[in-house]
Amino acid sequence: YFIAFEGGDGAGKSTQVRHLVAALEEAGREVVVTRQPGGTTLGSALRDLVLHGEHITPRAEALIFAADKAQHVQEVILPSLARAAVVVTDRYTDSSVAYQGAGRSLGADEVAHLQSWAVGGLTPHLTVLVDVDPGEGRRRRGGTHDRMESEADAFHAAVREHFLAMAKGAPERYLVVDGSAPALEIAAQVRQRLVREGVL
Ligand code: C5P
Repeated sequence: YFIAFEGGDGAGKSTQVRHLVAALEEAGREVVVTRQPGGTTLGSALRDLVLHGEHITPRAEALIFAADKAQHVQEVILPSLARAAVVVTDRYTDSSVAYQGAGRSLGADEVAHLQSWAVGGLTPHLTVLVDVDPGEGRRRRGGTHDRMESEADAFHAAVREHFLAMAKGAPERYLVVDGSAPALEIAAQVRQRLVREGVL
């Protein structure tokens, strides 16, 4: 079973990933937890390059994120799913569609095609969208640490809108949670959904 957490910067995705992993392990499931960009050796190098490099054009940026995912799917996700582990990833293809497609204005459809090609069409069974107002996200992360985080609020607003539009387009595959709610409340909502899916 393959679960992705998506959402803007400062939404609280990583906290929710930790809560869910603890619940799955407690239930005796084998869990593989990973993140994008950066879940492999190549991915870590690409993460550093794309978040801290200079003069990266939008298309080059999209291709770096795509390369990260291609490696990640082959090296980590597919082998884990093959042995029936639950895979939980902190970001997946939707982040690229939202950040590079909508945020960088490369076109969501084109970036979605690129991403789909990179991951060989592998789609999560469930995507948890942790929705947060960009202003709130910025306050929470307390400043800017990388290239994306220093983007203007309009960039992050476009990213958020696109995340929500994707969730609306495929409601059966998404759980949208309010990132401004208490973390334990959100974690409970996620667990409930996984109980319904028969994973917990
Ligand atoms: O959330 P995390 O720290 O993993 O994200 C790293 C950075 O990469 C974030 O600032 C996020 O906005 C950015 N990112 C991006 N495009 C993606 C994935 C992440 O701009 N496809």
